[in-house]
Amino acid sequence: MIRTHNLGFPRIGAQRELKKSLESYWQGEIDSQDLFNNGQQLRKNNWQTQADSGLDLIPVGDFSWYDHVLDMSALLGCIPERFKHDGGAVDIDTYFRMARGRSVDGGDVSACEMTKWFDTNYHYIVPEFQPEQSFKLSTEKLFDEVNEALQLGHRVKPVILGPLSFLWLGKAEGEAFDKLNVLDQLLAAYGEILNRLSDLGVEWVQIDEPILVLDLPDQWKLAFEQAYHKLQRGDLKLLVASYFGELADNLKLVCDLPVAGLHIDAIRSPEQVQQLIDWLPSYKVLSVGIIDGRNVWKNNLGATVSVTQAIQQHWAGELWLAPSCSLLHVPVNLAFETSLSDDIKSWLSFATEKLTELRLVKAAVLDNNCLSSDEFSRNREAISNRENSSLVHNKDVQRCLENVKSLSLKRGLDFNERIKLQQQHLRLPNFPTTTIGSFPQTTDIRSNRRRYKQGELSQADYQSVMQQEIADVIAKQEALGLDVLVHGEPERNDMVEYFGEQLQGFAFTQNGWVQSYGSRCVKPPIIYGDVSRPQAMTVNWASYAQSLTDKPVKGMLTGPVTILNWSFVRDDQDRATTCQQIALAIRDEVLDLEKAGIRIIQIDEAALREGLPLRKKQWSEYLNRAIEAFCITTSGVKNETQIHTHMCYSNFNDIMSSVSDMDADVITIETSRSDMKLLDAFEQFQYPNEIGPGVYDIHSPNVPKIEQIEYLMQQAARRIPLERLWVNPDCGLKTRAWPEVQQALRNMVTAAKQLRQSV
Ligand code: GLN
Ligand code: ZN
Repeated sequence: MIRTHNLGFPRIGAQRELKKSLESYWQGEIDSQDLFNNGQQLRKNNWQTQADSGLDLIPVGDFSWYDHVLDMSALLGCIPERFKHDGGAVDIDTYFRMARGRSVDGGDVSACEMTKWFDTNYHYIVPEFQPEQSFKLSTEKLFDEVNEALQLGHRVKPVILGPLSFLWLGKAEGEAFDKLNVLDQLLAAYGEILNRLSDLGVEWVQIDEPILVLDLPDQWKLAFEQAYHKLQRGDLKLLVASYFGELADNLKLVCDLPVAGLHIDAIRSPEQVQQLIDWLPSYKVLSVGIIDGRNVWKNNLGATVSVTQAIQQHWAGELWLAPSCSLLHVPVNLAFETSLSDDIKSWLSFATEKLTELRLVKAAVLDNNCLSSDEFSRNREAISNRENSSLVHNKDVQRCLENVKSLSLKRGLDFNERIKLQQQHLRLPNFPTTTIGSFPQTTDIRSNRRRYKQGELSQADYQSVMQQEIADVIAKQEALGLDVLVHGEPERNDMVEYFGEQLQGFAFTQNGWVQSYGSRCVKPPIIYGDVSRPQAMTVNWASYAQSLTDKPVKGMLTGPVTILNWSFVRDDQDRATTCQQIALAIRDEVLDLEKAGIRIIQIDEAALREGLPLRKKQWSEYLNRAIEAFCITTSGVKNETQIHTHMCYSNFNDIMSSVSDMDADVITIETSRSDMKLLDAFEQFQYPNEIGPGVYDIHSPNVPKIEQIEYLMQQAARRIPLERLWVNPDCGLKTRAWPEVQQALRNMVTAAKQLRQSV
């Protein structure tokens, strides 16, 4: 017997219905009953879509109003004290307050922290634990939804986040303590959840334990064994689901857990299937994730059928088939794409299409005759069309790639030498002031961009309104007395999309939304082919800005690693190769900017750190390739040309040596909230180049005071020689409003001037 199931379906709705409902509710335009009705409708549609695609088991509990980790906190009554929860049922407004920090009836509280879900672009709400944390089931959502699905006649499989992953992903509040101390309490609550599910007549429960693909300390491995012994239920079968990577050293541990089944990600780690077949007792269910849940490419069905048949031959137990992970990370339905070229569209598969693929694979594994059906022949055609398409393969790009090997990835002179030339060239004071690139994106700017895109504004008119914006921000920066200016990025909607739209090899969807957090969705570009740059992308705007002032204007580019990490990347070649192609395109742009007289060029790598692999042993490979890509972009410029990079992180500890190898002349980072402690890593490493530690928290509308900025810079100067320090905000200012930005920058410039006098 083979069964198909799904680990989770996108909750946002095919047309982002959830976003719209949530935002209307938050605005007070609809009431909670409307919101609940809309959610119910969404779940109903999602289940029906999944049932229609022939799944044997449908996930329930994957729907969430904001985030499934927050759902778990609410279910377990794990509510931080500041939300003043009375210990009863957790209502929807408390739930949203935890996510958003805003209060419905006055008095703001700080939201729970939000952070990235493993190596995806999805953010979860971080659970908070106290040393004496107690847990008590506090929402009916999961059980209600199971009932709802059962009443609709579906074969349901509830999904919950497992206790160890829940605990691992949370943080110990107050005095640091070992989170495992609260495990027993937590397991008691999980036990109750399972009892309730069993009472509802459920046969299988999927317990997600994605931390099984991480490097786990020994106590945590031990805790797995103990926990699952306690969770055993005679009448309820548990499927432990791992995804996003290989089990590696956790494989034996997982095989021995007293549970009825195990799901593994055979896309990220096909090799582990054979090991599991050897290790997993055959009375357990083996669920193999054979359809990529992290990417948008059509599955090669014929190949997947062969692989699955081979598994079936060797595996004596019951086999289940599924996508590799929850489909939360891919868009909902390809049918809404009407502007992609027919070729490209025929190569893609979103959540809904992926489930059809699963049904087809199962059918053909059971009956080889299916391979000659129309659906299979269409699939073969699409796969071979993509393999041979001239849209994908570009000889010129491949030739350039060959040449990468002979490129020197080093700047001409060492930093100590070239900085002298740069100083002669740029003549900047101590504590030079600058910004990170974008200035407030006003409604005017957005509407002009939109009108241009829709053809309501001619190219010439668009150019002139944007130049007006640029002239305006240059004048404002001069009036403020900033030392290194920027053009303000008014022409950019998004730092990746802007470049993707001008590069060959990128496609954009109309409706390919993926949840990033809560109601926020992103539409990642799709890199389908060899990447090249038909023409300069930023030079006109940058040179125009430079023509208006004698102060240096920074050219602003997004780095190759960030472009890669925020896109759906082609799966028919190494990610590193795709990254090199992007790097070569950006290198050409850098050289063109230099030729046009731009003396400082900033290459943002906002997403370099978040691309780190989940396992430490893979870090150095990733970092080496990332640094190499960055150096491809920068190594061609003259010594006099100053290269900046920008990274908005709060943790550099483990990547310090790579950051140093990037050898940017100046790096600007996010430090304002950390009291400059973040610079410890730079100090300890004796980071040799210049640094601009952010002194203005751009996530808040608050205006930093002059003394506060001076204080922060003094903290910085205790760690970094002052002649290597810059003064700048944490990140771009595009989400802020002008009045606060002007005041904040005025204070920043004043603080810098006072600092110069005091040395
Ligand atoms: N240059 C970009 C900006 O200023 C950088 C944004 C980022 O780092 N996220 O908006
Ligand atoms: Zn930033």
